Amino acid sequence: MIALTLDRIAEITRTRIRGSARPDATVTGPVVVDSRQAGPGSLFVALGGERADGHDFAGAAVAAGAAAVLGSRPVEAPQLLADGGDDGVVAALGRLGRAVADGVTAAGADIVGVTGSSGKTTTKDLLAQVLGRLGPVVAPAGSFNNEIGHPLTVLRADSGTRFVVMEKAARGIGHIAHLCTIAPPRIGVVLNVGSAHMGEFGGREAIARAKGELVEALPAADDGGVAVLNADDDAVSAMASRTAARVVTYGRGDGADVRARDVELDAAGRARFTLELNGGTAPVRLAVVGEHQVHNALAVAAVAAEFGMDAAAAAEALAQAGPVSRWRMEVDELDDGTTVVNDAYNANPESVAAALRTLGAIADRRRSFAVLGAMAELGGEARAAHEEVGRLAASLGVDGLIVVGQEAAPIADGAAGTAGWQGEAVAVPDAAGAVEALRTRLRPKDVVLVKGSRVAGLEKVAEKVAEGL
Ligand code: ATP
Ligand code: MG
Repeated sequence: MIALTLDRIAEITRTRIRGSARPDATVTGPVVVDSRQAGPGSLFVALGGERADGHDFAGAAVAAGAAAVLGSRPVEAPQLLADGGDDGVVAALGRLGRAVADGVTAAGADIVGVTGSSGKTTTKDLLAQVLGRLGPVVAPAGSFNNEIGHPLTVLRADSGTRFVVMEKAARGIGHIAHLCTIAPPRIGVVLNVGSAHMGEFGGREAIARAKGELVEALPAADDGGVAVLNADDDAVSAMASRTAARVVTYGRGDGADVRARDVELDAAGRARFTLELNGGTAPVRLAVVGEHQVHNALAVAAVAAEFGMDAAAAAEALAQAGPVSRWRMEVDELDDGTTVVNDAYNANPESVAAALRTLGAIADRRRSFAVLGAMAELGGEARAAHEEVGRLAASLGVDGLIVVGQEAAPIADGAAGTAGWQGEAVAVPDAAGAVEALRTRLRPKDVVLVKGSRVAGLEKVAEKVAEGL
C-alpha cells in the first residue's frame, strides 16, 4: 500500500479521527477486515459480520500493531469514525481504495477489469500470471469481487505496481458501475453473458446491461481505454456500441481480432490451438483444463498484446499459466488410472455444459461419470435448465449420472428422456449419497466429473474419489 497519514485518510474517507489516534500516525498497510491479519502499520476495518461484530476485535487488531481502526461506532483504539453504520464504513473504504487507485495509476500502473457470467476468477488468475511476466501485479486471491474485496485489493498496490487485475461481479444493475468508481479500469474484458444469477436479474438482457457497465466506465479510445470483447457471444459483441474505448475482439471465428484456430483437446482435457495475434501466429498448449479455457486464454492474450506481447510470448506465457483458485477443473490422476475432475466451485448452465464436454474429451473411450449438483439462481428457468443439462450429458454419452439434491433431480429426467442413451441416472440426497453411489459403480480407469455450487459441498465427493472412496 501507499503509506498515508491518518489525517490524510480521514480527509479521503470523510471520517473523523478520535480516541488516542495521532493525526500524523502512518498507515503502511495492509488494510484488513480480519483482525487476525492485522500487523504493524495496518488499518483494521471493523464491519458488522453475520456472527460477529468487527468492533469487538478492535483491541486485538491494535494489540497486533494496527495503526488505527476504521469503524462506525466508538472503540477503545486510535480510530477513524464513519457515519452511517456498516454502509458508511464500506463507503469510506471505497473512497480510500479510489485514492490509492488514482495514486498508482498516476505512477504508471494499469487497472484491468474482468467481468462475465463464467470464468472471471479463472481469467483473472491467468491474466495475473501472464502480465506478471511484464511487471509486478496485484490481483486478489479467489473472487474478491465486491465493494469490500475491491478496495482491499487495490489498497495492496503501491508505487512499484505495474498491473492491478480485478474481477468485477454484478449482482444487479449499477453494481459494476459502482465497482468501477472504486478501481477505474483502463482495460475491460467481458467474457460472456450467460444465465448465472438469472433469477436475481430477470433475464439475459438485464444481465448484459449490468455487465456492459464495465465497458461504459472505460476511458475513451484517445485516453487509452480498451474494451476486450468476446466476438463469439452476441450479447458481448453488441457491447461495442456502448463504449467510447477502442474495441478489441477475440474468438474462434474469422471476424475476431485475436483468434484461436484448429482447437483440439488432448487426453487430459487441455486445449491446443493456433493463436493469431496482431498478424503473428504461435502454437499454444494450455495448462488449464477445458475447451472453454480457449476463450479465457484469448481474452488474456488480447490484454497481453496491449502491453506489447506478441503471439509467441503470449503463447509461452499461457502455456505456463496454471489454475490458482481451487475447485475449478482440478484434474487428479489416481494410481489405478481413475481420473477425477473437481469443478465443485460453482455451477451454471454454461459452465456445466463446458465441464461435460471436457469430461467427454478426457474420457474418450473410458467410462465416464458425472456427479452434478443443482445450478443456483435460475429462477423460473430452473427446471428446464436442469433437464437440458441432463439431455446434454446423455447426448455426450456419459455412462453414469449421479444427481445430488432435490433441485437437481430434473437433470436425471432430462437424461432418461433422451432417445438412445444407454447410461444410468441416479438421484441421491447429498454428497454422502453420491459417494455411496460411486462406491458400487466406479472401476479403475473411469473418469469422474464432480460439479455443483459451493453450497452443495461436492468437493468432498471429489476428495473421496481421490482417496479411493
Ligand atoms: P463467480 O461468479 O462465482 O465468481 P467466476 O465467473 O469467477 O464465478 P470461475 O470461478 O472462474 O468463474 O469459474 C466458475 C466455473 O465456470 C468453473 O466451473 C469453470 O470451469 C467454468 N468456466 C470458466 N470459464 C468459463 C467460460 N469461459 N465459459 C463457461 N464456463 C467457464
Ligand atoms: Mg469468481
